[in-house]
Amino acid sequence: MLDIKSMTLPELRVFLTQNDYPSFRASQVHEWLGRGVSSFDEMTNLPSQLKDFLKTSCYISVAIIEKKLVSRYDKTVKYLFSFEDGECVESVLMSYRHGWTECISTQAGCKMGCTFCATGKSGFSRSLTASEMLAQIESAQRDMDIRVSNVVLMGMGEPLDNLDNVLRFIELAGDEKGLHIGARRITVSTCGIVPKIYELAKLKLQINLAVSLHAPNDEIRVRTMPVAKAYPMEELLRACRDYFKLTGRRVTFEYALISGVNDSDGCARELGKKLKGMNCHVNLIPVNPVEGTGYKKSNIQRQKSFADILAGYGVTATVRRTLGSDIDASCGQLKRKYVREGGK
Ligand code: SAH
Ligand code: SF4
Repeated sequence: MLDIKSMTLPELRVFLTQNDYPSFRASQVHEWLGRGVSSFDEMTNLPSQLKDFLKTSCYISVAIIEKKLVSRYDKTVKYLFSFEDGECVESVLMSYRHGWTECISTQAGCKMGCTFCATGKSGFSRSLTASEMLAQIESAQRDMDIRVSNVVLMGMGEPLDNLDNVLRFIELAGDEKGLHIGARRITVSTCGIVPKIYELAKLKLQINLAVSLHAPNDEIRVRTMPVAKAYPMEELLRACRDYFKLTGRRVTFEYALISGVNDSDGCARELGKKLKGMNCHVNLIPVNPVEGTGYKKSNIQRQKSFADILAGYGVTATVRRTLGSDIDASCGQLKRKYVREGGK
């Protein structure tokens, strides 16, 4: 069966004309898919013979809500979605002044094994298709009766380990007949797969790139992020500088502050020296404690001191507000609980 929702309009045209249907039918199908229909029967302006053909040759991806948690403190909503084959991923919807931002997953699980991450601890199942990424947004929009204005690829999975599907997602999300979310409103977050950063840079997309650093040097970084063994920090920072040169887009660094691991004044100074003069921004995130890791978040004074030291090097840093702290809003935690309770 073909994943019809992952097809671009030109691909749909080729598919239908090769099967002896006129090319204007492709625009009609494309428009229905953009509206988020979940069955071919809803495509009321298609002849039934074409609908039958589509039913036997294609499927429409949907993200079914298995669980939904709403925060008591803010408007954050967390979903556990399931797909066709029963695989589950998490999504988080956050309300900001400028609108709704959804954090979506790009893989069911992750191969990267970061020690502080609930997803990394649960292993890898499979990569998501572009349509499964779109479906997470459509499903949340429908459920809440809202429009998502910004998307961050910071849910489960490593986007650059699924680059082709992520690129297809970015293209389809921008479609004005569909979600109409432009590249400038999409953030791709990576743990730092250097060759893929170069591949992405060459495409000169207008997306925002976030790089998960979480340490000021390789010695500390390898302790929490196995990927650092393959791609040392020096190479990673060079790739980020080149990314800016090629795209003109400032890179954001994610830095989860873990008490006693990476949050000392010395760490801040070392990081400040390395990032000095670079066109970047640092997001400091008090680590979300995940069961079994023993990691604790840094206290408020530590967070402030860390940001102040970076500022002394001319590196702008903000401590990110934690949303939905009562609903395990950090991805991977809900699924772990669900699996333990025998849900899937
Ligand atoms: N794989 C990508 C994107 C998904 S993870 C990446 O690693 O960048 C999204 C972000 O959440 C990353 O910055 C990741 O390091 C961070 N993260 C994972 N677990 C966390 C936790 N327990 N507390 C705080 N941040 C966490
Ligand atoms: Fe994967 Fe990102 Fe979690 Fe690391 S932090 S295990 S790369 S999802």
